[in-house]
Amino acid sequence: MQQAHYQLIIVGGGPAGLTAGLYAARGRLKVLLIEKGATGGQVLVTDWVDNYPGFVEGVSGFDLMDKMTAHADRFGLEKKFATIKSMNLVGDTKEVALDSGEILTAKTIILCTGAKPRKLDIPGENEFSGRGVSYCATCDGPFYRNQEIAVVGGGNTAIQDALHLTKFAAKVTVIHRRGELRATKILQEKAFCNQKIDFLWNTQVKEIKGSKNGVEELLLRHHGGDESLLKVTGIFVLIGIAPNSEILPMDQLHTDRDGFIITDEEMATTIPGVYAAGDIRSKRSRQIINAAGEGAVAELSVEHYLGNQAPDQPLNCSE
Ligand code: NAP
Repeated sequence: MQQAHYQLIIVGGGPAGLTAGLYAARGRLKVLLIEKGATGGQVLVTDWVDNYPGFVEGVSGFDLMDKMTAHADRFGLEKKFATIKSMNLVGDTKEVALDSGEILTAKTIILCTGAKPRKLDIPGENEFSGRGVSYCATCDGPFYRNQEIAVVGGGNTAIQDALHLTKFAAKVTVIHRRGELRATKILQEKAFCNQKIDFLWNTQVKEIKGSKNGVEELLLRHHGGDESLLKVTGIFVLIGIAPNSEILPMDQLHTDRDGFIITDEEMATTIPGVYAAGDIRSKRSRQIINAAGEGAVAELSVEHYLGNQAPDQPLNCSE
């Protein structure tokens, strides 16, 4: 099988990967971005982004990622839509094996595989997944027009998405395991003022019950041990994220206890020539702006690592 060699391979095409790609393309590196689906990552299913600087009126997640993709494309970023089977990051030449059998090699790698929604791991969750259990309000909200639904979680995603779901649902009950929200104050204020949102504090969902028609009720346990049932036709589980690490050689990488990759402030992992950026990194703040910023830092670290080699691509004087 043919082997293509690059100065840099970027794995993942969310805000971190696309920004690293933009910088690398502008830096005239021989660079390839590998993405398994569409570029854009988790932001693609974010209804509305109100805090990305420069977009005064806000922007839909889809439009923001469309613009980031177009921006990288404008500088000729080479992209490949493929599934990675395995990777070897150790040594001077890194190897990326694709499902197709193709092997790609690179001097440096930036890992930007992002994260995915965490699960509750309770009875009924898998059984009713896609039949009332959802992890994406933007994708599934319109199915719940005039229905009573629940959102689990107290972070930014849960509260932002609960607000979004009030566009469709008759009532949204936010179920939170503590007595106060983790979400930013402006979102809290909007949610507390929204007539369609109710809160159940200090409460955990123990089981999701239903029939062949889908979800019908939730078994709840309240602080103190009392249990009750809540009738809903849908439950949105929005309790944080887990790393997308299935394709990564975890035995080679240094991670935190949740499996997120530990880097230094230049985005370097413990393996020379290997960097990580965006939600796959171990960190506290997971914002689109952080991911983009980290993508830029990682790429600049790559340029430093490569020792400012001569450009591989011809100069384009029209830019
Ligand atoms: P998060 O901030 O980690 O919040 C997760 C929430 O789920 C917390 O309220 C947590 O409760 C709760 N939770 C966790 N495990 C649970 C369990 N097993 N059962 C019940 N509840 C559970 O996650 P997120 O809201 O998905 O946000 C992820 C990152 O993206 C954050 O950094 C966030 O700031 C960022 N984000 C930003 C925006 C924005 O700026 N507009 C929008 C969306 C996301 P506790 O509070 O008790 O821990």
